[in-house]
Order: sequence, then structure tokens, then C-alpha cells
Amino acid sequence: MDTTRSSELFEEAQRYIPGGVNSPVRAFKAVGGGPLFIDRGRGPHIWDVDGNKFIDYVGSWGPLILGHAHPLVVQAVEKAAERGTSFGATTEAEIELAKMIVNAVPSVEMVRLVSSGTEAVMSAIRLARGYTGRDKIVKFEGGYHGHSDSLLAKAGSGVTTLGIPDSAGVPGTLTADTLVLPYNDIDAARMLFEAIGPEIACVIIEPVAGNMGVVIPKPGYLADLRELTRKYGIVLIFDEVITGFRLSYGGAQELYGVVPDMTTLGKIIGGGLPLGAYGGRREIMEQVAPIGPVYQAGTLSGNPVAVAAGIETLRVLRDRDPYAELEAKTATLGDALVSATEQSGIDLQVNQIGSIMTAFFTQEAVDDYATAKTSDTQRYAAFFRGMLEQGIYLAPSQFEAAFVSTAHTDEDISRTIEAARNALALIG
Ligand SMILES: *Cc1c(COP(=O)(O)O)cnc(C)c1O
Repeated sequence: MDTTRSSELFEEAQRYIPGGVNSPVRAFKAVGGGPLFIDRGRGPHIWDVDGNKFIDYVGSWGPLILGHAHPLVVQAVEKAAERGTSFGATTEAEIELAKMIVNAVPSVEMVRLVSSGTEAVMSAIRLARGYTGRDKIVKFEGGYHGHSDSLLAKAGSGVTTLGIPDSAGVPGTLTADTLVLPYNDIDAARMLFEAIGPEIACVIIEPVAGNMGVVIPKPGYLADLRELTRKYGIVLIFDEVITGFRLSYGGAQELYGVVPDMTTLGKIIGGGLPLGAYGGRREIMEQVAPIGPVYQAGTLSGNPVAVAAGIETLRVLRDRDPYAELEAKTATLGDALVSATEQSGIDLQVNQIGSIMTAFFTQEAVDDYATAKTSDTQRYAAFFRGMLEQGIYLAPSQFEAAFVSTAHTDEDISRTIEAARNALALIG
């Protein structure tokens, strides 16, 4: 594979942009080799600047459930941009997107639009603290909720631990109120709530984890968490930035029938443009300025171009209802990986639900961060490179999801399976 042009551009980019990238994982550090510079995308495919073509399973990290440059989404963006890209005043389309979200997501009675998932989560946490008058927040090990300070906390030692900063530049005082629990361990949550439940403002969780690779909640886990948080007056926040409109039209909460107090959204609702949202029970949302005391604002919030892309994406999903078809395609891929490794003797655990999937290179069942971490990341890197050479673009890190879109055809899936068999045989 010729990557001359990508290499040249990466050299140049590093002179002007830290690490040559505007988000760290794009630098391919976890898999080695230089990153590819992308020229364009269409449907399930992307082309790099050297003209190599790939079947893409990154999908911009989740937003592109309809594939790249979906004609209706592109048309909606063009139409909106022609009328002006931003006003800093409310447009009618914002009501339409808000209504679509309220009608789709069971927990959301009112919603506020922002410009990223990070911003949605940051605002939701502030609101939960303002609403409850409590300071402490709880997150889960391996859960990612964007890069706001108080959520860049990792667990210290022990089962239930105080957050310590996970990044330079985050004062310990800003993570001191962030408690970190192991995912999928209801007893750990119960113990913590029994000790200090009335001091906790909120629990934030990816109902299906997507940022330690895909990790599926144990049966009853989310329902138990719902019951426990209610008992202690803790606001339960589902971070559905990945899972919203992905696992079903109403997200993981619809799929599992567990309704949180608040929900954060991003990725799909922007159709590939910058857009996030947080919403929830009316009583909580009415605490937000200008009607309540919790401040939150944004120059580009509800941006008309992003809103147009979001509306069109949700409309296609609502009208076409592709979820069963997405699930079937992704399961075919996952099952084939499992049987390929059985033949080659490589330890592999495939976690798949709906159109998201992660193949962990480990013999342990992966149901939390500790087990995810048992993966052989060197082996993943070799697999990644083997796939890339054959025209399959996977996430350049073990701890991410593969995203299948409605644009992936059965033939794309078959080609991917074929490539995976070859790649696994080579590294076995
Ligand atoms: C991507 C993601 C975020 C952050 O969204 P950005 O738009 O990157 O700021 C937050 N939570 C989850 C679960 C995510 O996957």
C-alpha cells in the first residue's frame, strides 16, 4: 500500500498542530505506523490522499450510521447553509429536532442543544448538581464522557475509589468529588450508596459501554442501578452519545426498558456535524437558565446547519427503521470472527450488540474495564495493520467500537470477513 502523500502531510501537520492531529487517537499511536489522511467518503467507503480505498468501520467514531455523504443529509446541509450558517437566535428547525428527540428518547421531556458530547455531559453534570444541591458525582471505570475536567478521573486502588486526575492540567480538587466504580458490579454501587448516597448528585454511565471497547451490561444491572439511584435521590444520567439512535431509535434506554432521569446525546444526532444535547425530566430541565439558576450557553448552540443534518439523519432512521438489519449484519461479522479464531487458535472475545462491536484479543470474557485491559494490544495492532493492508479501516485502538452503517452491504461484510480470516491467520 502506497502511503507517500499521507506521510508527507503528517510531517507537515506536526509542524503546525500538536502531534499533527486535532484529537489524539487519530495519530495511530496505539497501532504504530503513520495515520492516513482522508480525502473523501461515500457510503461505507473512504479514500485516503494516496487513492487507497477502504471499507470504513470508524464512521467518524459513531455519527455516520447512514454512511458517508448520505445524499439526503448532504442536500439538507446545502439547503441550510444557503440560508445562512449561524444567527445566534432561535430557528424553527431547532424545535423540530428537539421534538424528534423528545418523541424518541423515553427519559427526555425537554432538551437543550449544544455543540459536542463533551459539552452535553459537562452541562448535564452541572445541572444535576444544581438540581440536587449535592457535589459528588459517580462514574465508572473505563467510561468516557468527553474531556471536561471533573470527568477526566481514573480510579485509584480499591473497589470504590476517589477519582484522581487522568490528565496533566486537571487539579486534584476538580476530581476530588468524582467517585469511580467498577462497571457491571451492582454490589460496589450499593456499598457506596449505603455509605454516602445522600451526598451524591448523579451517577453517569454509558448504558452499553463503548469507550473501553464495547462492554454489555449484565442482565438486570441497569434496572438495579435505576432502583438504587432512585432510592437515594441520585440523578441517573445515561450517556447515550454513542448508543442514542444507534442501538434502537430510542437508544439503550428503549432497548433495555430502563428510564434514567437525564440523557446526554451527540454523534448521530448531528449527522456528522458538531452537535450534542442533554435532556431529561421537565422538573430538572426547568432549572436551566434562563428559567432556572443553572447557567449554560453557547454561541453556536443549535447551529442551523448541524441541526439540518441531524433532523435528516433522524428522519431517515425513523422512516426506514434499519435496526434489525444492522443487528443482523453486525452479528454475521461477529460470528464469523469467532469461528475464524476458533480455527486459528487465537484467543478472541467478540462483544457485539446492534451495530457496534469490539473483538478483544483475550481469553477472558470482557464485562468490565479490568477484563478489557487483559487484551493483547500488540496483537490488536497487528490485526489492525493486516486489515488496513487489505482495505479495511478499523479503529486505530483496541478499546474502541467498530461501527456498522446502513451503507455497508452484505458484500462489504463478506469482504471484511475474508480479510479478517487472512489477517488472523497471519498473526496466529
Ligand atoms: C464521544 C463521546 C463523548 C464526547 O463527545 P464529543 O463530541 O467527542 O465531545 C461523550 N460520551 C460518550 C459516551 C462518547 O462516546
